[in-house]
Amino acid sequence: MHKDVDRVLVSREEIHAKCIELGKQITKDYTDRGELPILVGLLNGSVPFMSELMKNIEMDVEIDFMDVSSYEGTQSVGSIRINKDMGTSAAGKSILLVEDIVDTGKTLTEVKRMLANKGAKDVRVVSLLDKPDRRTEDIEADYVGFTIPNEFVIGYGLDYNQKYRNLPYVGILKPEVYEES
Ligand code: 5GP
Ligand code: MG
Ligand code: MG
Repeated sequence: MHKDVDRVLVSREEIHAKCIELGKQITKDYTDRGELPILVGLLNGSVPFMSELMKNIEMDVEIDFMDVSSYEGTQSVGSIRINKDMGTSAAGKSILLVEDIVDTGKTLTEVKRMLANKGAKDVRVVSLLDKPDRRTEDIEADYVGFTIPNEFVIGYGLDYNQKYRNLPYVGILKPEVYEES
C-alpha cells in the first residue's frame, strides 16, 4: 500500500469484479433497447474505470472523452468549465457518460444539460463511486459501482492535487497529507 494511504476502501479485486457485473448489465440493457452507446469518459478521473469497464461490454461501442473541471483540492469551485469537448458530434447519439465519482452532482447535471442541448438522443451515466451524502442536485447515476461514505477518496483515477490517480484501489489519505500542503 502507498505510504500516504490510511486505508483501502475498495480493492482492485472488488473493482474488477464490479466492472464485469456492470459490463454485463450495460450490454443487456442497451441490447434490449436496440442501441449502441458511445462511452464518453470524463477526464482525467474516469480513465482506469473506463479502461476496465469497456473490456467487459460485449457490443460494438465507440469511445470518446471530455474534460470538464469542477474541483481544486478538496473544495468544489461551483460551476464547471469545458476544457476539451467530445471528438465527434453528440447529436442523435446514445451517450453513456463514464465518471469516477458523483459527489454534489453539479458536474453531471451541467454535462447532461449540455449534451441534451447538442441533440443527444439519450444520456445515461455510469459512475465507479457514488457519495450520496454530499448531493445538492437532483441527479443519480444509472449505474453505480460502489456507494461510499462522505470521505475524500483517492486512487483508481481519483486525485489529490493530480497525485494518486494510478493507485489500483480506492483509498483514504492519511490526514497529515492534507495538513502538510
Ligand atoms: P460533483 O460535481 O459531483 O460535485 O463532483 C464530481 C467531481 O469532483 C468528480 O468527478 C471528482 O473529480 C471530484 N470529486 C468529488 N469527490 C471526490 C473525492 O472524494 N475524491 C476525489 N479525488 N475527487 C472527488
Ligand atoms: Mg470526474
Ligand atoms: Mg480532481
